[in-house]
Amino acid sequence: MADNAPHTHPNALSDMDVRVRALETLLVQKGYIDPAALDELIDTYEHRVGPHNGARVVARAWSDPAYKEWLLRDATAAVGEPGGFGFVGRQGEHLIALENTPQVHNLVVCTLCSCYPWPVLGLPPVWYKSAPYRSKAVIDPRGVLADFGVSLPAQTEVRVWDSTAELRYLVLPMRPPGTDDFSEAQLAALVTRDAMIGTGIVTLPRSAGAQA
Ligand code: FE
Repeated sequence: MADNAPHTHPNALSDMDVRVRALETLLVQKGYIDPAALDELIDTYEHRVGPHNGARVVARAWSDPAYKEWLLRDATAAVGEPGGFGFVGRQGEHLIALENTPQVHNLVVCTLCSCYPWPVLGLPPVWYKSAPYRSKAVIDPRGVLADFGVSLPAQTEVRVWDSTAELRYLVLPMRPPGTDDFSEAQLAALVTRDAMIGTGIVTLPRSAGAQA
């Protein structure tokens, strides 16, 4: 909508939002982009592609040793090929899966900007793109984990992986104990976006199956 009123908006846009909107308006006016196509793209990544995709990948890896082996050997294929999940698309061309173990915890960042595996996780959260996360993840990864309420044993090594335009990472979190009889769908429901970035771990909700 055109807005020619004096600009005294109570909730003014950030400089970046203003720049993005100006750029979008310009591109539409010059006919370089189709607003309907843009809306479709945004809808796709806001509603259809999201962490539920990655959660299914993780749940399968937990349930099927052969699939896990494939995922760790060639995540691009195990996630993208029809024999895997067929999750392909922008920002997911070369994917590497990083397995968390009691010895090693993996944490993913993009220090340069916001590279992120869209086909499995959707759009990156705002904090992932923020300067504090991008710098602190490298300088003080345990501090970042503490910010997210995660405390790991002192002997666990924290490895930080810097995403690029060529390489995206998916963390394969540890399967929580007490889930031996869970179906893939039940497992997938436990897997959070943050656990697949490495800023979270997967836990059982207190009400569910605590008898293990
Ligand atoms: Fe980036």
